[in-house]
Amino acid sequence: MPTTTENTLIIAKFGGTSVADFDAMNRSADIVLTDPNVRIVVLSASAGVTNLLVALAEGLAPAERTANLDKIRQIQYAIVNRLTHPDVIREEIDRMLDNVARLSEATALATSNALTDELVSHGELMSTLLFVEILRERNVPSEWFDVRKIMRTNDRFGRAEPDCDALGELTQSQLQPRLAQGNLIITQGFIGSEAKGRTTTLGRGGSDYTAALLGEALRVNRIDIWTDVPGIYTTDPRVVPAAKRIDLITFEEAAEMATFGAKVLHPATLLPAVRSDIPVFVGSSKDPAAGGTLVCNQTENPPLFRALALRRKQTLLTLHSLNMLHARGFLAEVFSILARHNISVDLITTSEVNVALTLDTTGSTSTGDSLLSSALLTELSSLCRVEVEENLSLVALIGNQLSQACGVGKEVFGVLEPFNIRLICYGASTHNLCFLVPSSDAEQVVQTLHRNLFEE
Ligand code: ADP
Ligand code: ASP
Ligand code: MG
Repeated sequence: MPTTTENTLIIAKFGGTSVADFDAMNRSADIVLTDPNVRIVVLSASAGVTNLLVALAEGLAPAERTANLDKIRQIQYAIVNRLTHPDVIREEIDRMLDNVARLSEATALATSNALTDELVSHGELMSTLLFVEILRERNVPSEWFDVRKIMRTNDRFGRAEPDCDALGELTQSQLQPRLAQGNLIITQGFIGSEAKGRTTTLGRGGSDYTAALLGEALRVNRIDIWTDVPGIYTTDPRVVPAAKRIDLITFEEAAEMATFGAKVLHPATLLPAVRSDIPVFVGSSKDPAAGGTLVCNQTENPPLFRALALRRKQTLLTLHSLNMLHARGFLAEVFSILARHNISVDLITTSEVNVALTLDTTGSTSTGDSLLSSALLTELSSLCRVEVEENLSLVALIGNQLSQACGVGKEVFGVLEPFNIRLICYGASTHNLCFLVPSSDAEQVVQTLHRNLFEE
């Protein structure tokens, strides 16, 4: 991890695998204690817990509900039972688990996005309580802080948007004084609260975003993201084991990667970091000595090809209307319908009478709602013929000056001859070239491209 000097303030975020069990939590605690500049810690729920909570929120049959509750209890009890004095915390964890049971029973009557967020928030609430207790047993006092006191959001449950002005003010009044007293703060990622005090969530994987938002509000010197890979790689190392770590990468490149599916960072994470020019470090809590990636403002000699990203489960909408022929305003109408349904468009190509587009699934909801509602389809169908295709994946080549270089098209598509490419976007951004392929081919396409563009 990068070295720091005195008077540096660092916010450290640990993801689900970094707080998955007692040993993982202790490794993360070691990292926190290694650097006295780490004064604020943001945690995800223990691995697997959020998925189980989301399933409960969908309203399971009683038997499945009991099974899910048991699994959550087992994950959290496995940590409690390794403590030297488990009784200190067991009561509080039991209270949380009782809440979860009560709320999931309520889903048998009616499900709602607000209820989902309330339920799902318990993952982060429990992991942070346990982490504070682990630190206490190691004779390190720390303060459990409920981030909902300061993470003010709108009421778009499942994918709430932060109110950065309110966050800034609340941070100054509620959090800053505690830090000034020298307290080590342990708080939750992912969750927030809207104006009426109801719990919200920032979308799946949102703890990275929390860390960046708090980092900005506290004007920290660095945001450390501790996960299960020692940095950002040229592509997902699970898909291409030969992927190489990128030691230094620019905000722009990393933001493109995150937007186009590199799960290692939540897509919105870099917004606050870029705005406030705060470097972001990404490393592995399993192997901190392995170093990691530093995301910063500038790098020397930015390469033409930087990385490949893969985003699965894409929906392609093809709109066909003869009215488009030499007409004006058709696209404006399509976009206003999409905007009314809260959908932003991701990729788009047009021909004389067709428009093909994909929906932006950036920061998917915590509630599992589909973006494509039947109300939206009905409205679009009144305007044109609509075709919907699923089972597609988006592959993005991220780089620099891509649209200014000669031969990029040949280099990329020449090696993809055996594959059916469904839609191509190239030229709008100098930082990416994107295309859709059938999901069944996606990994092979990434492997083929990686071999040809990054391994030779
Ligand atoms: P956490 O729970 O710590 O937030 P995530 O599972 O959200 O962790 O993100 C880490 C995962 O991101 C890695 O295990 C890896 O499979 C995946 N990933 C996708 N693209 C990349 C990439 N380019 N570099 C590194 N990891 C990546
Ligand atoms: N626990 C949440 C999730 O699984 C948030 C996070 O891990 O960042 O999506
Ligand atoms: Mg994540």
